[in-house]
Amino acid sequence: MIFRNILEKKPLEINDIVELLSSTEEEMDLLFEYARELRDQTVGNKIYLRATLYLSNICSKNCLFCGLRKENNAIERFSIEENEIESIAQKVITEKYQSLYIETGERQDSKFIDKIDRIVKSIKDESLTDIGITLACGEQKPETYSKWFKSGAHRYILNLETTNDFLYQHITPNDFDHNLDYRKRCLKSLLKIGYQVGSGIMTGIPYQTHEDIATDLKYLADSNIHKFIAGAYIENSSTPLYEENKYLLTQQERMLLSLKCIAIMRIMMPDIAIIPSSSILAMDKLGWQKAINAGANIILPNITPALETSKYDIYNSDNQVQSMSLENISLDQKRNPIAFGEWGDSLRYFAK
Ligand code: SF4
Repeated sequence: MIFRNILEKKPLEINDIVELLSSTEEEMDLLFEYARELRDQTVGNKIYLRATLYLSNICSKNCLFCGLRKENNAIERFSIEENEIESIAQKVITEKYQSLYIETGERQDSKFIDKIDRIVKSIKDESLTDIGITLACGEQKPETYSKWFKSGAHRYILNLETTNDFLYQHITPNDFDHNLDYRKRCLKSLLKIGYQVGSGIMTGIPYQTHEDIATDLKYLADSNIHKFIAGAYIENSSTPLYEENKYLLTQQERMLLSLKCIAIMRIMMPDIAIIPSSSILAMDKLGWQKAINAGANIILPNITPALETSKYDIYNSDNQVQSMSLENISLDQKRNPIAFGEWGDSLRYFAK
């Protein structure tokens, strides 16, 4: 089929998505242009902000690709204290980010659950109700998700990374704590509770095929998520998956696949919010601008204090998340103005 005709097909089937993922450079430009125009027509050309707080790098899990994994003794652990939250929330207001995205390693103990709950409540209670709160605190029981939702968190991000059982078993230990079906159930639970739900995948996992990625995108579209998070796998020498480096695409190829996923999801779900993950910027200093050019409309500037940021070592020393402040990110604001002071909720959510 002619490439342009695939772009206009509704709905896109797995084989169409594979074609788009396999696009040549010239076709890719067309794909990005098409997705970009679709974004401008549906959700507009503005870029919304989610000020990002890496709350803690303590994690009870052991994903084989992630530097925060419990058994990685090469990093120093931290957890930001509750008394620091007020000044962080003030910064969100003063600098007109308007939304706070809180990401942490995953824990299910009551001390952690209650701490997150108190943080959410304190932000909402202290005359700071203008702040939209997004949580990314991993897999939790439905009652925990409900508790945080009632306290004022209204968005949640839970990345599946992959929907393929073989690949999931390849990037996580084969034990009770790492179960793809359970993770998918958590996503459903978040949607049922009423959060604006975001999810995403990692491109470039060793052995991953274009068919695998196409199946992931179809799964997320069928799940009717409200936000898509595009991430790419970055090898970390402190993790077990590093041993499989010889099976990797280049970082540039992994990033381009991720950008193509952004454009494809924009075509499949024109009114969703699309966010390039920190991995895209860690791989390429212009990564977020490239993501915007491919159809994304939200970015995650980092406002975590510098000391804690330096310990949030998900990737490796060449790919730090350190310099992701708004001042350090180069964006074409004439074409895509930043929507300071606006929440920028997903239109998809309100269309349900
Ligand atoms: S991917 Fe998430 S759950 Fe897995 S080790 Fe890293 S922080 Fe923990």
